[in-house]
Amino acid sequence: MKFAWNALLLTTTLILVPTTANSESVRENTTNGLIVANEPETDKTDNNNDEETEVTTEEKRQQLIQQLLPDHSEETKNYLNQLAEADQSYQAGNHQQARDRYQKAKSAFYPEAFNPEKVESSRNPYSDPEQLSPGGNVFWGYGKQEFDPKLKSKSLAPLSHLVEQEPDFIPGHIRYAEALEFFDQREQAITHLESIVPQYPEQVELVETLLSLYEKEQQWLDASLTARRFALFNREHERAEEFSNAADEYFEDYRSQLRAKLRGNVIANVITGGVGYALTGSLLGPFSAIESTALLLQGESSVGERLSSRLQEELPLVEDEELNEYVNEIGANITQYSGREDFDYEFYIIKDDNLNAFALPGGKIFINSGAILETDSEAELAGLIAHEIGHVVLSHGFQLITEGNLLANVGQFVPFGRTAANLIVLDYSRDMEREADELGTQLLASTEYAADGIYRLMTTLNEINQNRSTPPAWLSTHPDTAERVDNIKTQIVENNYNRFSFEGVKRHQQMQEKVAQILADADLEGEIDLQGEEEEEEEDSPEEIDLN
Ligand SMILES: [Zn+2]
Repeated sequence: MKFAWNALLLTTTLILVPTTANSESVRENTTNGLIVANEPETDKTDNNNDEETEVTTEEKRQQLIQQLLPDHSEETKNYLNQLAEADQSYQAGNHQQARDRYQKAKSAFYPEAFNPEKVESSRNPYSDPEQLSPGGNVFWGYGKQEFDPKLKSKSLAPLSHLVEQEPDFIPGHIRYAEALEFFDQREQAITHLESIVPQYPEQVELVETLLSLYEKEQQWLDASLTARRFALFNREHERAEEFSNAADEYFEDYRSQLRAKLRGNVIANVITGGVGYALTGSLLGPFSAIESTALLLQGESSVGERLSSRLQEELPLVEDEELNEYVNEIGANITQYSGREDFDYEFYIIKDDNLNAFALPGGKIFINSGAILETDSEAELAGLIAHEIGHVVLSHGFQLITEGNLLANVGQFVPFGRTAANLIVLDYSRDMEREADELGTQLLASTEYAADGIYRLMTTLNEINQNRSTPPAWLSTHPDTAERVDNIKTQIVENNYNRFSFEGVKRHQQMQEKVAQILADADLEGEIDLQGEEEEEEEDSPEEIDLN
């Protein structure tokens, strides 16, 4: 698929169009010296500029704006009006009245959603063997006996059954990891704990066991990320700061390790391990092996900045001051609780009507205009941004880069009708998505926004999804949306997060109008090509974007 698309890109670029009288419709690409012209959508080049043409352009513009703006049912309009009224009370400082109004509107619109009886908690960790089932108890009886080097399966088999049947029993996992290590299977021990720790992020003993294994294997980056994750998910924990400091120290160890590799002249290994591809791919332009490693050495902020400045050149960004201020404000509301003050957060809006957003290491966050158009309130947009910030503070993108899983496959230019962002793939794992949802919801709940912003965005997207041939990009890589929605719901109910807080409907709607105008103009000027107008290209279009 990717190859087919790249071939198409080439074809598109090679169509050289002779210079036309209207220089606006021609974009010169300085990188490769090719000139790509955009077919004027209307008869704008007509120098006579007669009345009729003017009307046609304006009509077309209004039509585009209407197509871009959300087309709500009467029921949804009514619901949003109720939220807007509640917002008024909230902003007037009348919080009790606001709460009542939010509650009334949401209970009517989502009658069953947050019924605590219908929310099932999937994880109930415990440490007391008394709570084990009779079968589990038998396995534990064998498993806790001293290991005999000659009787490997006598220890391993019962423990392996135990962790499978009683995953909530935390000491079982620790003992199983100890057994695996004892019998020279440290890697399996690590693999097992790596799958368990994200499910029980508050279990400090699990985290410590995993960290000690990473230390023995000198997996410093993994150790740093794991320690950081514990500190971020458990801010109230008495040892949160200790783990945050440990994360910094492990990261220093990781850098020393990289430096040693550089000195040992094994750059080739570092680079062929995928890192080289991610960093030297065309996104960053020609880039030497030493430079890539040097970037990694400087840490995630440098990597993110380098990628970000390249994307800023390549992508059609919204330059409207009010809109950028809007998104920056939302971002700042969330990042003040992010726990990563070492990052310099920046937010950009891309002129693209597909719903999508993505985050680069170190806090550079790109939001498609479509994300503003398809969310119903500031709180929902905040939910999306909080999820992306979740990826950032947990260093997911940086992790992908070091593993070589960020496929920076951006061409030398932005092809007509497509943005470069569509060609990058950030392939987060399911665990990473779950973590970003969880930390994002936790962050959102720390702000004044309603805590169910992410939840509502995902449920509405799921509905839209069912009525569309192409699902919204942000969801397309998440086949298990229903499970994610359930997890978020459980988290909100269990932590008693406030769903009846600020929504920000009115201002959001004003911003939507502004976005629609900007996109319509960009489309008419040939800067971008809106979704609905791609019929001819459809067959050769790449799979929807994988970035999120
Ligand atoms: Zn995500």
